[in-house]
Amino acid sequence: MKKHNYSAGPCILPQEVFEKSAQAILNFNNSGLSLLEISHRSKDFVAVMDEARALALELLGLQGKGYQALFLAGGASLEFLMVPYNLMKENGKAAYLDTGTWANGAIKEAKLFGETVVVASSKEQNYNHIPKGFTVPNDADYFHCTSNNTIFGTQMKVFPSVDIPVVCDMSSDIFSRVIDFSKFDIIYAGAQKNMGPAGTTLVIIKEDILGKNGRVIPSMLDYAKHIKAESMYNTPPVFPVYASLLTLQWLKNLGGIAAIEKINNAKAALIYTEIDRNPLFKGAAAIEDRSNMNATFLLNDENHAATFDAMWKAAGISGLPGHRSVGGYRASMYNALPLESVQVLVEVMKELESKI
Ligand SMILES: *Cc1c(COP(=O)(O)O)cnc(C)c1O
Repeated sequence: MKKHNYSAGPCILPQEVFEKSAQAILNFNNSGLSLLEISHRSKDFVAVMDEARALALELLGLQGKGYQALFLAGGASLEFLMVPYNLMKENGKAAYLDTGTWANGAIKEAKLFGETVVVASSKEQNYNHIPKGFTVPNDADYFHCTSNNTIFGTQMKVFPSVDIPVVCDMSSDIFSRVIDFSKFDIIYAGAQKNMGPAGTTLVIIKEDILGKNGRVIPSMLDYAKHIKAESMYNTPPVFPVYASLLTLQWLKNLGGIAAIEKINNAKAALIYTEIDRNPLFKGAAAIEDRSNMNATFLLNDENHAATFDAMWKAAGISGLPGHRSVGGYRASMYNALPLESVQVLVEVMKELESKI
């Protein structure tokens, strides 16, 4: 039986994506060949890459606005260093908002290239909220933020308006809610949180911000080279790109980001209402910053953990334990998680209450 999969990433994908990608591994486009054994330069695969790049821009509302989409390898973590390599000047500086483990990872890499200014941090409160009221220096080469903090369950609801290029790590909430994506100059997202299997990273770049920092950039780390090669500078991760394309097609057929946002809001409302109502539980993140993708919550009395754990496992739920730095539970409700899975979890939480 299919589990209710709350894994934080790699995570649940639409069932039709699993089925169609399995089919493509056996016989791609009725070619008598597997997707895994054809040239990435073949007409059929070039069409996959082209469509994936175009569809990503279309869904984000960025077509014809000077943006390029790339499907790179190396994970979101490689973007932590590609961003400063491509945007930070020699002896330059960059501004970062520190909202959690991943933001911190990005700051650590940027420090290798120049000065980093942390405009605000919620580290002292174990990243349970998004800092507000900070100012971004307008002489920095760019401002970097993380839209959704996968581990702590916080999400930026507003983004600062600044005059310098804005870079956003959207790994865990891209394609989940309507945002004016044209406010950003670079958006990157590891596929495995909301778009596809691990192995590729979507990078969206406003082309005119490149080529200005005067650094000599190794080819594989140079966004401009990847753009020029149409995301095929070397052999791309063909399977993750194909499965990502299938997920993007699924999303488009569903009605795009506006349609999935409604479902995501309904799922989040269901779980947070229960966390707030049920006297056995409490939320881990500040209410106004709660993530619609990763709901973090705790038992008020840890002594009930064994009972609760046995109950949700028996209900066919998987992947619920929280990250070790927060503890408790984390319900990751990415695009492909059905509303019914959240209903099952809420029922288990109610049952626990009636048992105790
Ligand atoms: C998971 C995650 C990352 C790291 O992604 P990798 O692809 O494993 O490098 C970075 N940022 C955020 C917000 C994440 O959720």
